[in-house]
Amino acid sequence: MSSQSLRCSFCSVESSDDVPLIAGANGYICESCVHLANDVIANWMRQRSFNELKDDLSTPVEIKAKLDDYVIGQELAKETLSVAVYNHYKRLIHIRNINDVEISKSNVLMLGSSGTGKTLLAKTLAAIVGVPFVIVDATSLTQAGYIGDDVETILVRLLDVADGDIKQAECGIIYIDEIDKLARVIDNGNRDASGEGVQQALLKIVEGNTIKIPDVKKENETITINTNNILFIAGGAFSGIEDCIAAKTNIGFNAELKTEKKISADQIQPDYLSKFGLIPEFIGRFPITTVLDSLDEAALVRILTEPRNALVRQYQKLFAYEDVELEYTPEALKAIAAKALTYGTGARSLRSIQEQLLRHCMFELPSKRENVIRCIVDEDAVNGVGEVKLIESHLSIIAASKNQMGKKN
Ligand code: ADP
Repeated sequence: MSSQSLRCSFCSVESSDDVPLIAGANGYICESCVHLANDVIANWMRQRSFNELKDDLSTPVEIKAKLDDYVIGQELAKETLSVAVYNHYKRLIHIRNINDVEISKSNVLMLGSSGTGKTLLAKTLAAIVGVPFVIVDATSLTQAGYIGDDVETILVRLLDVADGDIKQAECGIIYIDEIDKLARVIDNGNRDASGEGVQQALLKIVEGNTIKIPDVKKENETITINTNNILFIAGGAFSGIEDCIAAKTNIGFNAELKTEKKISADQIQPDYLSKFGLIPEFIGRFPITTVLDSLDEAALVRILTEPRNALVRQYQKLFAYEDVELEYTPEALKAIAAKALTYGTGARSLRSIQEQLLRHCMFELPSKRENVIRCIVDEDAVNGVGEVKLIESHLSIIAASKNQMGKKN
């Protein structure tokens, strides 16, 4: 058979230099049919994964157990979110059967200092339930008509993450970070004047509406998304909310506040959030509130070592690729945690501290230190008064790799 007469068995396109065909046992397929088949299979998979979500919805206890693998501490927040997500998806599953009682959405508001795990919780939850998930920074949003991202772009992103599958996007999770930065101006003009306008704009999608968004694939066309079943989780540090809790002046959840007591979730009443600067309609759409604990040294040590993808494990893996065993003494871990505490950004600084600590080793090991089999990080190395110990295959300490801890860059 001449190559000219070969045709795709699916669309009958004729083979040419521009249209190569893949041969099978009984036929041929062209590139566009391969792509089409790919899209069809992806759709099946998505549909299947949503059906699986319906069939195997984990219980709150199971959801929390999975969160425990990644998030250290924050027991209350984990329990609250597990219940909220479980109820949300149960509501979705039974939505068509309900004629009498309409269960309203359980959007969650998380209060907690920077780096305590708010985003991590939301991200991990989305991965557990296997739905599209986007993180939005509230400060990047603007009211319609102003320069910046208007709130519809959140839905455009969600649809993109859902690979254009509207049904999937319509049961996704949206995490709105830094929601406290949208507080309306209530004192000295310090807070962003446009915040209230953005809250109003967000309200439109949070309260469950049919929203038209631009179709990125077809110019001048729109797509309609119903946000009724999208779960919204909002998070923020809410520094200063203690001042709004009038009677109890000496409480706070920020590490920098020298307080004995901490704010608990039941102290966060809607009127405090309103005094802080959130508009009542917005607060009303987040019926579930939870407070994250500040992380102490012990929690930071656990974060370094315990989660599935704990930082220490990540660096150990990186070193293992060079056939080098990376070891931390218990004192070194405490010293890293203590250093992170001084930065006041929760667990966020743990990575940069380690990066600085191990940078020189990582620079030298692949080429200059091929005989090294172990690296030992001790307290002195962390505190910048010693160095990371490098041990060669004959087991003697041959050198110490200069680390930059304690030195200015
Ligand atoms: P937030 O959103 O509260 O500012 P993130 O969730 O972004 O903080 O946390 C920043 C990083 O710190 C995360 O990627 C994670 O590695 C780590 N982290 C923070 N809190 C925890 C925690 N409770 N358990 C495990 N890791 C945490």
